[in-house]
Amino acid sequence: MPSLEIYDTTLRDGTQGFGVDLSLADKLALTERLAELGVHYIEGGWPGSNPKDRAYFAEVRRLGLGRGKVSAFGSTRRSGVSAEEDQNLRALADSDADVTCIFGKSWDLHIAEALRVSEADNLRMIAESIEFLRRATGRPVFYDAEHFFDGLRENEACALASVRAAFEAGAERIILCDTNGGSLPAQIVAGVQKVRAALPGALLGIHVHNDGGLATANTLAAVQAGAVQVHGTINGVGERCGNADLTQIIANCELKLGLRCLPEGKLAGLTEISREVWERINRLGPDNQPFVGPAAFAHKGGVHVSAMQRNERTYEHVPPSSVGNLRRVLISEMAGRSSLLAKLEVKYPQLRDATIAAAVLNEVQDLEHQGYSFEAADGTFDLLVRRHLGLTRPAFRLEYYRVHGIGTTPHAREAKAESSPVEATVKLDVGGQTRLCVAEGNGPVDALSHALRQALDGAFPALARMSLTDYKVRVVNSADGAGARVRVLIEHEIDRRRFSTVGVHANIIEASWRALADAVDYGIALAEESRD
Ligand SMILES: [Zn+2]
Repeated sequence: MPSLEIYDTTLRDGTQGFGVDLSLADKLALTERLAELGVHYIEGGWPGSNPKDRAYFAEVRRLGLGRGKVSAFGSTRRSGVSAEEDQNLRALADSDADVTCIFGKSWDLHIAEALRVSEADNLRMIAESIEFLRRATGRPVFYDAEHFFDGLRENEACALASVRAAFEAGAERIILCDTNGGSLPAQIVAGVQKVRAALPGALLGIHVHNDGGLATANTLAAVQAGAVQVHGTINGVGERCGNADLTQIIANCELKLGLRCLPEGKLAGLTEISREVWERINRLGPDNQPFVGPAAFAHKGGVHVSAMQRNERTYEHVPPSSVGNLRRVLISEMAGRSSLLAKLEVKYPQLRDATIAAAVLNEVQDLEHQGYSFEAADGTFDLLVRRHLGLTRPAFRLEYYRVHGIGTTPHAREAKAESSPVEATVKLDVGGQTRLCVAEGNGPVDALSHALRQALDGAFPALARMSLTDYKVRVVNSADGAGARVRVLIEHEIDRRRFSTVGVHANIIEASWRALADAVDYGIALAEESRD
């Protein structure tokens, strides 16, 4: 299998992104993860630019990274000083990185406007910087030709002269950059072909940004035109619209183009590293992120699901397991019976009985009509099925609940209290015994939850281990024309398992009560299961 070099710059270019912040500890941990995944080069930072990156290069030496090589990034020397005197270049040489990568100018506009030097001076800056780093480190130097494709379009001779200077000075990879991210695939192909013709034998890399939404397409175009090294970031994080997303590029190159990017068996680590990067930059990735997103292999339509059961290739371009992702079958109004049964038959073989299955399906459709949604309410959904199968009995029968003291008092307002306590009373029949409990809370749902739990405490001690972890409300318009209702989703955790329940009603307290009552029944069922 022919191969492609993967050069990850999540830790350097990625951190230029909006809201992307990685601590030194994050950077070191991700370096280890990237090395485990098997990328060839990990660009750790810019040692000349800040103390965190200097500390990174000092500490990264202590990690055992296997074949993963660490790269230090910087720029060509400033004008008017020698390479030896340039502090940035010295910092690069002192970083002790396995390779260094420096960027320089290819676009006459930048040479004239940003650097304010002649084209000849620019060529000397490129060549002398590379020669210095090779001498000082004895290790490979890569050259990033910044704005190469823009430069090539506006002044081809100037752009080609800049990469020739780098190649002749001994740069081991010439990386062609679409720094502003606006090029089209055909322009990228033309650029790679021109450099290959001008510099036979040069090993080329590609580094693109996603400003036109084409970073993956442009990278693949460059690879097919002969680039041997690909720069990008995990999840495409990076400046403005981001860098090329390595998760997409690696998956496409391995699965579609037959190019080996990672060691055998490592492709299935893509989903995990994607989620870890989202986690460490404290962001939720898009559900529909190709290959690695939670919806990348989610199926909702009923026809899709029944076709999928016969042959997965009907609606999947690659198997989810190839990239470490999971197939999900979503329950929905559109789904019809095959989707529902696909999800459930594994767990409840009794559902192969057509009468029971039809009854479950009817209830789901009826509730969805009222504004229920089960995609995020696994607890309520499972409970509904168990009730049909006679597997769960309700833990209690409600006589009534009441909530008092909603709203604020003049006194509380004067005291600027965030909220005055609310009181809830519940009266239940628990196994033939009447339980009447009153509890306070900092809101009606909190008060109801406390009163309900108190009333059930004696009969179901396991409930003490259950805690409320999330509460969400949204307004829904029910399909039956009954006007706006609210849908309350409540998440609980018990014995390290999280589950959600849902309630829908025109009154938010009643909607919350329904979700709470389901949570108690389901929590008890889970606790009994984990005891078994
Ligand atoms: Zn970049």
